[in-house]
Amino acid sequence: MKDDHNSDSRRRFIKGVMISAAALQVAAVSRRSTAAELPRLDESEPSAKALGYVHDAGTVESATRGGSDRVCATCRFYTEPAEAWGPCTLFPGKSVAAKGWCKGWVALA
Ligand code: SF4
Repeated sequence: MKDDHNSDSRRRFIKGVMISAAALQVAAVSRRSTAAELPRLDESEPSAKALGYVHDAGTVESATRGGSDRVCATCRFYTEPAEAWGPCTLFPGKSVAAKGWCKGWVALA
């Protein structure tokens, strides 16, 4: 009787772990495709203009940016450093250019 109970608990636990692992895989795949499909942030959007966002950091003086290495790809808020375009936490639902820049730039931790 007790063994049946333990077996049931173990089965439910293993089933729960397998379902969680599957859900994480689906979420990871979904996140990847979403990042690739995000519309690009338009420089003329009010939120982009407010932070001085540009697709090409080279169009902004290095001194204004605080250094030539300050681009989206080196910013803490850029979540896809290996991609040319990727999501930025400051502009939800949009992708920004890896070589872009805005006034919200913060160094990677
Ligand atoms: Fe680029 Fe960082 Fe500005 Fe986002 S917050 S647009 S990643 S510089």
